[in-house]
Order: sequence, then C-alpha cells, then structure tokens
Amino acid sequence: MVSLAGGMPNIADLPREAIGAAISKLIAENGVQAMQYGSGQGEPFMRDKITEVMAEEQIAAHADDIVITCGSQQGLDLVTRVFCDPGDVILAEAPSYVGALGTFHANQCEVVHVAMDEHGIVPQMLRHAVHTLRAAGRKVKFLYTIPNFQNPTGVSQTLERRRELVALAHEVDLLILEDNPYGLLTLDEQPLPALRALDAEKVVYLGSFSKTFAPGFRVGWVLAPHAVREKLVLTQESATLCPPVFSQFAIAKYLDEFDWRGQILVFRDMYRARRDAMLEALPEHMPAGSQWTHPRGGFFVWLTLPEGLDSQAMLPRAVTARVAYTPGTAFYADGLGSRNMRLSFCFPTPERIIEGVKRLGEVIKAELVTRATFGIDVTPAQPIRRDLTVGPAPDVN
Ligand code: PMP
Repeated sequence: MVSLAGGMPNIADLPREAIGAAISKLIAENGVQAMQYGSGQGEPFMRDKITEVMAEEQIAAHADDIVITCGSQQGLDLVTRVFCDPGDVILAEAPSYVGALGTFHANQCEVVHVAMDEHGIVPQMLRHAVHTLRAAGRKVKFLYTIPNFQNPTGVSQTLERRRELVALAHEVDLLILEDNPYGLLTLDEQPLPALRALDAEKVVYLGSFSKTFAPGFRVGWVLAPHAVREKLVLTQESATLCPPVFSQFAIAKYLDEFDWRGQILVFRDMYRARRDAMLEALPEHMPAGSQWTHPRGGFFVWLTLPEGLDSQAMLPRAVTARVAYTPGTAFYADGLGSRNMRLSFCFPTPERIIEGVKRLGEVIKAELVTRATFGIDVTPAQPIRRDLTVGPAPDVN
C-alpha cells in the first residue's frame, strides 16, 4: 500500500541518538523539575525560546503573551472554548483542516466556508459572508485561516492578500485565528511574514513544534493579546493543569543545543524532493480533466477529479489497487468536495510517491472507462464550488 492519505511528518532524519543522549542528561541534571507539575501558562524558558522561533516569520512578541498547549490542536480547542457559545459561526477556508472542523463542531459551532483562489481566502467573499451572516442575526466569532501551505490544498496567501485580510479584519471588526504549523517548511522561497507579524491586535496565532521538530512531544502554543491570554490560561488549567512539562524541557534543550535551523533546512530538502516527485508524476499519470495545486511548501496537493467522478466512492477501488488518499469531503463542513482528494507527499519516499501516483492514475482512468461504458454518473447531484474545485485558476494544475 502507498498511503498518500496521512499527514504524518517524516522525522527519520532527526539526530535521534544525540537527542536521546541530551534527554538522558536532562533527566540526570534537571529531572526533579522536568518531571514535576509546571506552570499553567507553560514554562517561562520555553516561552522565551518560542519568541525566537516566531521571529523567523517576522513576529515580534513578548513571552508573557504566549500560552503553551498540548499541540496546536489544543490551542484550537482553547480558543474556541474561550470565544464561542453553541450556535456561533466560525468562518473557514473552503476547504479547511479536518481537525479544526472537528473541534469547532465539538464546541457546537457552525462552520461557514469562504471561497479561496490560488492566493488564499478571497477578501471580497469574506466581507460578503460577514455582512450577510450579521444581517441574519448570526454571531461570527472569528475567521480560522491557515495562510501557509494550507491543509488540505497546499495554497499560500501572497503578502498582498495577507495585507488585505488584516485590513479587512479591522474594517469589519473580525478576529482572525491564524494556524501556522507549516510556515517554516517553505520549499521555494523565504518564509513570508505571518498575519500576526502584520497585525498584533486582530490576530490570535497558533504555532507548533510538530512539523519543525517532532509531533510526539505534543508542544504547540497560542500567542494572544493580553486579555485573551489570561482566559486561555484559566481554560488550559481546567483542561490539563499544565501543558506537558517534560516535553517543554526536552524541546528547550533541543533548541539550545542543536542546530534546529539547520535541521529545518534538512527537512526542507527532504520534503522538496517528495513534493517534486509528486508534481512530476501527476501530469504523467493523471487523465485529462484532472487538476491539482502546486504547493510551494508544506505537505499537501489538492486534486480535482475529472467531472462525474466521486473520490469517496472510488476509495475502495483505490485501496484494492494499493493506494490511499483522503477524500475531499472530509475537509468541508457542508458535504462538498466529492470531486476532490488530498494527496500527502510528506511521508512516503519519492519512489513510493511516483508508484502511488501511477496506481492512482490507473484507478481514475478505470473509473472513467466504467462511467463511459455503463453511463453511471457517480457524482452525487450537488453543486460544485466555483473556487479551487473548478475554474481556470492560473496556479491550479
Ligand atoms: N493545524 C493544522 C493545519 C494541522 O495540519 C495540524 C496537524 N495535522 C494541526 C493544526 C495540529 O497539529 P499539532 O497539534 O500536532 O500541533
């Protein structure tokens, strides 16, 4: 089986022996503190280090405004709990990260998607959504957005689009929740400034060590304006007492004693080879009528099938052909996305990616033959969004 489905980072290139030795030393020298309860906001030395990491994306922040979380996933949950009541609306890109959609639903919020183009979420559509929802008496609590190498599309906001979005946040008085786990995994250019680097007032920022170091430590963070930060700490304490203390000691040691910036360059080279393998294999193996995005970083390509095909219905046939992907419907709160799939290039080797794309191409071609032969239209009768899913966007395919 070649799995192009999961989003697991490939951490095999980490210097594991040296990290193991450093952790042994940590236990010998600081074990009593490292294995003890800690601060609900997160350890001060860890928060200081995080300001250095965020400076790579031009964010100037104070360690006091950071709350450490159990991965950015917990950050999503804490922010939602602090801001939202049941029935509130959260705006999100169409499509958006499945884990965030789950958190928003668990907190009984309604997700309303806003169309994207090849530069990210479309400001005019965002303005329209905010006005329409408010006119209908709905409470719109924030825009959830992933500006860099978005999960699942791989699309990034240009600098101009970022500026437009923060200006719009002021114009319509809307909070932005910026989720940025992939920003440093840029493959073709230097990182662009985060939304939070452009505006400290309207942006709550989520960061994570899961993709730049390792997800098993479960350390992420929220950077929020002071008043919000205090509420986040209380919510964090009620959920976990404190974020994982041992992990914070281990990560701080890693950042102090290892060349973590150099390690990110190693990760970039490894992911670039995988991304390039996928983007070179797709035109060779996909039938006419397929489209896909060209990510400049991160883990994901978003593929649109030829008209009439359904990625969910096709999945069992793909698995029989020993290739897996994530159907597009997972990334929409409103059931759209049946013509789409997310392909991850992060985990398999380039050779396996090429083999996986070849198998997938064969499955799609067979599906087209079945459809032509039996006249079966396997796409459910529902509208297809005129955003990334269709249309002649210059950067798509
Ligand atoms: N946000 C996005 C966009 C993600 O892709 C992920 C992981 N797949 C997360 C948040 C959660 O990451 P973690 O909790 O490991 O920091």
